[in-house]
Amino acid sequence: MKEVFRTCCVCRKKQNKNDLNRISKQGEKVIIDNKKEFGGKATYVCKNENCITMLVNKKMLNKVYKCNFSNEVYKNISEELIDTKHK
Ligand SMILES: [Zn+2]
Repeated sequence: MKEVFRTCCVCRKKQNKNDLNRISKQGEKVIIDNKKEFGGKATYVCKNENCITMLVNKKMLNKVYKCNFSNEVYKNISEELIDTKHK
């Protein structure tokens, strides 16, 4: 199987696509789209907590997509990618 590499938008490390979360912008929101169900411009972030926390705290998606996502968007991301892991 061919390995596909993508760059994490936080640490800029190239990683195997399977080790990254795929984030897809849908209008004013973003969707964690690891199953690749949504099209649109995708961003990738490592599955490790550091990168996700940084992405949320620094609101890095605003820069990537050049827009202003609401706090709720970031809250959802951290809930979906971090909190659920501890449950
Ligand atoms: Zn990273």
